[in-house]
Amino acid sequence: MISIILHGKTHCTSSEDKEIGTMSESSPTAEIPGHASGPWSFLKAAGVSLGFCAIGVARAGEVSQEARDVFGRWLRSGNHAGLAYMEKWKDARCDTTHHGIVDGSAAVVCAALPYSRGAVETGIWKSVAAHARSRDYHHVMRDRLDGIDQAINARFPGTISRVFVDTAPVMERTWAVAAGLGGLGNNGALIVPHVGSRVVLGEIVCSNVPEPEYTDVPSVRGPCLECGACVDACPTGALASSGIVDCNSCVSYHTIENTRAPIPSDVSSAMTLIFGCDLCIDACPLNRVAYPCELDPPPDPGPGSMTPQNMSEAPDEILLRVFRGTCLERTSVETIRRNARLLVGRN
Ligand code: SF4
Ligand code: SF4
Repeated sequence: MISIILHGKTHCTSSEDKEIGTMSESSPTAEIPGHASGPWSFLKAAGVSLGFCAIGVARAGEVSQEARDVFGRWLRSGNHAGLAYMEKWKDARCDTTHHGIVDGSAAVVCAALPYSRGAVETGIWKSVAAHARSRDYHHVMRDRLDGIDQAINARFPGTISRVFVDTAPVMERTWAVAAGLGGLGNNGALIVPHVGSRVVLGEIVCSNVPEPEYTDVPSVRGPCLECGACVDACPTGALASSGIVDCNSCVSYHTIENTRAPIPSDVSSAMTLIFGCDLCIDACPLNRVAYPCELDPPPDPGPGSMTPQNMSEAPDEILLRVFRGTCLERTSVETIRRNARLLVGRN
């Protein structure tokens, strides 16, 4: 989950809920954010029944010139660090009708699932970014989106659709804004009204469906308070006030995506977790709400507790068992051990 311009997950989109202090309970309502009217009005009820906290649909095609320009500047400045695929697939990323996405696509359905900061606070999970303290959210999201996909196909027979959860070059935050799910914050994350930015996103790109009336609205800043707490909380200066993330100095990028190059010392000295970084998300006052978590807990790894200390020396088979079925399985055991060594060596 890094978000390039990007966050939430690799933070990409990562302190203690008790630090947040004023946390209160919030309940999902039937009226969740997102554009869905006319023939698409069935989406809201389907989304609520599947646990989404926001769902909507946007007209497919090219992203706005503004979104394209921001992305182009981000790339030219080298902010993508080692994420070569960002450059490689830049044209496809800006157009859902690009060959290889969905030819002739007419609609992009976007949905958000909420996760909780404090859902799992035991064992090694305390040392992992909040979005990854669960069964791999890519699988959870895909399972739920398959339900939405079935509803779309039932409503519009003959639909050609593909479900994406970080599996194709799709500008997920840009499309989520266009679909009315929320606005982009200065932390680079999508902020869903009344939920915050602890959400994971997925998309269904469809053709042979009615074209929705909504199109890209790139300038929407949504609920962001422009308070600057996220920028102040970033220990490495990776976060520009405009919501642009420089992966070269982002802890989340280095601990999740950088599996080959050494982690710069100013970045490793800012690590608080072995996987990801929650600091700019935790700092946001809009995240002081305990929205019900829709991600499943991580699979039970069996007996034995792990700490960054013993993890830094654990053999492959132990690490693979502990992280089976979670996001951490998506990186290498060498990366996890490297991160654990850096964290332990610093403390
Ligand atoms: S290093 Fe900064 S920008 Fe990156 S996840 Fe942490 S607080 Fe956010
Ligand atoms: S911390 Fe403040 S500036 Fe940053 S995203 Fe949240 S509301 Fe916006």
